[in-house]
Amino acid sequence: MTAPVVDTSPKVSDEIRKTTCYMCACRCGINVHLKDGKVAYIEGNRDHPVNKGVLCAKGSSGIMQVNAPSRLRAPLKRTGPRGSGEFEEISWDEALELATSWLEPVRKSAPEKLAFFTGRDQSQSFTSFWAQNFGTPNYAAHGGFCSVNMATAGIYTMGGAFWEFGQPDWDHTKLFMIFGVAEDHDSNPIKMGLGKLKARGGKVIGVNPIRSGYNAIADEWVGITPGTDGLFIASLIHVLLKAGKVDLSYLAQFTNASCLVNATPGSSDEGLLIRNDDGKPLVIDRTSGTLQPFDKQGVKPDLAAQVDMDGVTHKTVFQHLADRFLSDEHSPEAVSEQCGVRPGRIRAIAAELARVAFDEAFELDQPWTDFRGTRHEKMLGRPVSFHAMRGISAHSNGFQTCRALHVLQILLGTVEVPGGFRFKPPYPKPVEAHPTPHCHSKPDCPLDGPHLGFVRSPADLALKEDGTPARIDKAFTWENPLSAHGLMHMVISNAHAGDPYKIDTLFLYMANMAWNSSMNTRGVMDMLTDKDENGDYVIPRIIYSDAYSSEMVAYADLILPDTTYLERHDCISLLDRPICEADAAADAIRWPVIEPDRDVRGFQSVLVDLGSRLKLPGFVDDNGVALYEDYADYMVNHQRRPGIGPLAGFRGNGTQTGRGDVNPDQLQRYIDNGSFFVEHVPEEASYYKPWNAAYQDWAVGLGFYDAPQPYLFQLYAEPLRRFQLAAEGHGDRQPPDHLRQQIKDYLDPLPVWYPPIEDGAVDTEAYPVHALTQRPMAMYHSWGSQNAWLRQIHGRNPLYVPTKIWQENGFKDGDWARLTSVHGEITVPVAHMAGLNENTVWTWNAIGKRKGAWALDDDAPEATSGFLLNHLIHELLPPKGDGLRWSNSDPVTGQAAWFDLRVRIEKATAPAESQPAFGPLKSPVGKGPATVQQKVTS
Ligand code: SF4
Repeated sequence: MTAPVVDTSPKVSDEIRKTTCYMCACRCGINVHLKDGKVAYIEGNRDHPVNKGVLCAKGSSGIMQVNAPSRLRAPLKRTGPRGSGEFEEISWDEALELATSWLEPVRKSAPEKLAFFTGRDQSQSFTSFWAQNFGTPNYAAHGGFCSVNMATAGIYTMGGAFWEFGQPDWDHTKLFMIFGVAEDHDSNPIKMGLGKLKARGGKVIGVNPIRSGYNAIADEWVGITPGTDGLFIASLIHVLLKAGKVDLSYLAQFTNASCLVNATPGSSDEGLLIRNDDGKPLVIDRTSGTLQPFDKQGVKPDLAAQVDMDGVTHKTVFQHLADRFLSDEHSPEAVSEQCGVRPGRIRAIAAELARVAFDEAFELDQPWTDFRGTRHEKMLGRPVSFHAMRGISAHSNGFQTCRALHVLQILLGTVEVPGGFRFKPPYPKPVEAHPTPHCHSKPDCPLDGPHLGFVRSPADLALKEDGTPARIDKAFTWENPLSAHGLMHMVISNAHAGDPYKIDTLFLYMANMAWNSSMNTRGVMDMLTDKDENGDYVIPRIIYSDAYSSEMVAYADLILPDTTYLERHDCISLLDRPICEADAAADAIRWPVIEPDRDVRGFQSVLVDLGSRLKLPGFVDDNGVALYEDYADYMVNHQRRPGIGPLAGFRGNGTQTGRGDVNPDQLQRYIDNGSFFVEHVPEEASYYKPWNAAYQDWAVGLGFYDAPQPYLFQLYAEPLRRFQLAAEGHGDRQPPDHLRQQIKDYLDPLPVWYPPIEDGAVDTEAYPVHALTQRPMAMYHSWGSQNAWLRQIHGRNPLYVPTKIWQENGFKDGDWARLTSVHGEITVPVAHMAGLNENTVWTWNAIGKRKGAWALDDDAPEATSGFLLNHLIHELLPPKGDGLRWSNSDPVTGQAAWFDLRVRIEKATAPAESQPAFGPLKSPVGKGPATVQQKVTS
């Protein structure tokens, strides 16, 4: 018998083009195999610094992304009422002329009447540049409803946070502790890191109410009560301080723990750091016993110093911190019940952190010199690292919880040291290296500076002369002063209410606000379609750009169809959040590895076109002639500062890095190099980046900043104290009286824990259960909804119910439940899950779809049994009886408090489909075929 001949390795392509994946935001390198001009296969690029050849399920499914029937095909103009989904296809010229005719008068009369918000796009340095030149203060991306608490707490504490800002030292870490990490974020890089860690016998501790994904492979899982992570972390700090297991040497040298806090009662400086005439914080030098600026050469700061001046004793930050965290309210016994974690377990985890950080400390034989001129012969390693994401961030106490986590890792001396958490260039960047927010708009003028930034004091708030909010989302106001990413979740409701003012045009990109990106989804649909007494839409014009027929499409007046990620130019720039690794600066591009087969254009190129039609500065020269043909042209020729452009690699004659003249061949050089550029950090500069003179010089050379700027980690966040001082009556800019107590309570310069605000706004006995969402590993946001392969993994989403609630309700497989919040109710299928906090239910986010969207059949599981938790969450908290409606946000940053949700659950008769059900949308692309076939022949 002869064995059948099986070709186990058929030739799948006649050409391979290397670009950057965009199936999630990790930005792995991919090799796209093309056969007869069509995408036949996608594999990981082994040379790429991010994934080193690894490809995930999402990445390989990119082939179905470019074949998806839901792709929009041409620009669309609404013909029926909003929400009807009735459109006519128009030409690009007509579409761009229409957009220009709407936007030009707005810019010339009142540019703030344009609200331009983008979703999880990766070109924010470009889109913000466009919006700034348009002149509107109303620009932001999706961070306000994602993880701004994490990012902002990181910047204010240590100059960066997790994921795109930094990573564990995977080669040396031995204990890795994760908080609130869902498995869609930081996908391949963290999986590869976990593989390395586990291969070395390292340990993972997962803290998350839900045991899925990375928490499922953790060696130890802490199923914490939602919203109590900050209290748990405070208790870990309590135990570590009591045991003396903190890194005193690290704290004294590299943090503001030794800085002295002004204790003069009632003074306008009370609670601020004591500074010299040059504004430098002062410490006591242990050698001389004198007050010295923190950064003076040779100074050895004293953590335990006190100084008497004018009859007042001033203590160090460290003493204030110890006073707070050593108090009994943070003992394991005191927090145990609220957190749902036994006291012994809290002590054991603290002991494990201390054991690995201190008993397994090690040294790298690498000398380095710090910013005080002190040479260190070795680099001391502490092999404990942390990672956290949205689970601890999307609460109304998320900012202070994230602060507490950053402070915990600093107390262990495990940030920017071997084995610990390391920043990825261009981070770390302290608050001082970031802009402040700008909001002053004038007709026919650019805005006075970048929209988003980091406030230092009330002087930086985005308020008009009369004290009213300058921005439509009320970012950077007394309600949420540190809202560094804006508040996208408030834009539509504020615009609808005309509070603080009415707008003319809402311009959205990649943000599915009529469905899974909004709280109060039905309410948002009503706001988008609501008309005033004259019969005009309350939000007069809506322009939307998306590549797919998402739910939001039906609610726009003009659709500018985007390409898929394989059909476009993109720039993953050091001016944004690039693809750097801790050991290297790196950026990347995308380029059209295939040409669109539809009449669509990359959104950024469309903005370039609109910019020149509108004659925006930065897009036209003095004679009004367009500066850039398209986005590719901008990527090469735009200079943000002399010699600094969107791409850092292959500048000048092709050999210059970071700074250099424009190189017309730059894109081809990137393509030849696999669509990325990488520059390694010198060995001497690889750790201790904020304080390492060699790193600072290297960073200046690459153009991250113009002069070395070493700084101290901020255990004590002075900008927050400045807001408290205002609330206490100091200064010219004063908060309204009803916000004074909130500012005093929540803008604490030391981490503080308070219960999620919804807990105080609803009757928790009536709504005793916490309800959460997470995104699965195989989907990123809603980006995989139309992907035929990924839908097979997650086409439906039950409500997962823990054993206790399952048994109490007598649930059986196939049952349905009614879930009720103070805002609404849903009826959905349930499934039992044992690895779940006993008072928490949860589901996958953004799987449920509205009928008619995404070219899915009306009976697709996403539209029949799939559902959204969003219907239960409101952008405002329930009335408190004070005549005010408070935003459902973190009062420090304005982050949407998705995970504060309280519900009650009861068994329900199975309806025909999940409730609420909405009528089918009419889609401009119709329905997809039953099968999509493509055969690759060798
Ligand atoms: S991790 Fe993200 S970027 Fe990397 S292959 Fe998967 S989807 Fe693509």
